[in-house]
Amino acid sequence: MLVHAKVDASRVNGPGRRAVLFVQGCRVGCAGCWNPATHPVSGVEHSVAELATWILELWRADRIEGVTFSGGEPMHQVTELCELAEHVKATAPGVSFGTFSGYYERELDRGRYWTRSPMTDADRAQLWQRFRSHLDFAVLGRYVPAIATIEPLRTSSNQSLRLFTPRHTEAGFGTPEVEITLEPDGLVQITGFPI
Ligand code: SF4
Repeated sequence: MLVHAKVDASRVNGPGRRAVLFVQGCRVGCAGCWNPATHPVSGVEHSVAELATWILELWRADRIEGVTFSGGEPMHQVTELCELAEHVKATAPGVSFGTFSGYYERELDRGRYWTRSPMTDADRAQLWQRFRSHLDFAVLGRYVPAIATIEPLRTSSNQSLRLFTPRHTEAGFGTPEVEITLEPDGLVQITGFPI
């Protein structure tokens, strides 16, 4: 699958310490998106097995409680993300999964979203249900800068934070913050929610 970036352990992309997988590619087109570098649907391909190994090593080292999918638009590569979640859960069923998506839940329920692999709306609706069955939470909806918000994990007030399991409560998501990571090789990564 196409990957933009990986963060080993973040505290600002969901509850607890989480690995963050930024997928590459977005065709949703929110005006004012602050990460346009993630839009081209092209770049470096990573295998599901390689990404599962990355997550499982962090989990075994007790560095993360879960994984958040961000982007780019995760739903464009939902088949691969289902396979990744299933691969990880087969070994580590305790890993929490969450995702961001620029699509609204009503669009996902009807299969009205774009995927890299062509398929019917009915197939996409079914894939969303499969993906959702692995998720503890999701933040859904377009980014609309005119109605920016400081609610946990949302960037504009039209977006919804959906809790699909009892594992997390809204209080556990904390206030929006920005996180800057300086890697030993000099790579600087900035993630989170600038207000
Ligand atoms: S869905 Fe996310 S990455 Fe895509 S344009 Fe909207 S804010 Fe940007």
